[in-house]
Amino acid sequence: MSCKVKGCRNKLSHVTKYHMCGKCNNFGHGQVECGNEELTNNLIQYFNDTIDIKCEVPNCSNNQTHTTDGHICIFCDKNINMHLKVCPEYGIKVPDENIRFGSFNEYEFLQLGEYYERYVGMGCAQYVRRNKNSNLLESLFMHSDNWGQYGADTSDLPRYKAFIYEYIKNETDIE
Ligand SMILES: [Zn+2]
Ligand SMILES: [Zn+2]
Ligand SMILES: [Zn+2]
Ligand SMILES: [Zn+2]
Repeated sequence: MSCKVKGCRNKLSHVTKYHMCGKCNNFGHGQVECGNEELTNNLIQYFNDTIDIKCEVPNCSNNQTHTTDGHICIFCDKNINMHLKVCPEYGIKVPDENIRFGSFNEYEFLQLGEYYERYVGMGCAQYVRRNKNSNLLESLFMHSDNWGQYGADTSDLPRYKAFIYEYIKNETDIE
């Protein structure tokens, strides 16, 4: 099977469901279909397609939708060999200097594998998680300017995605 999205340049590396739109970064359509309900709906009929040669990236959760070359990083949304420099998969460690350790007493209610999101003003947010492996509380600060809107070099989005990856949001209201 191959991708049915109009104008796709790498048809053989993935199926329709795994085509990432260059406009909105969502999956299952391309720039031509983006925002057009009729065209995007028209692609749903191909969403059960599977790829002939499966992705071999370890722990890939979608390996029947793309080849190894077609694998897109879940943290930085780039192709497997084109990670953003700020991507944890590029060699940057998470936790890294952006992640602070300490006693976050008010977050003691967090269970293993949970994270908490707290707005701290001016569009900034603090994320605290209870590390699945170490049981320690860790926090990541996201500045309002660092959500990728000013380009890849100042984006903390990949770190954020890695920080909460496979963690469950705790909705407790502590304000
Ligand atoms: Zn495609
Ligand atoms: Zn789109
Ligand atoms: Zn993959
Ligand atoms: Zn990446």
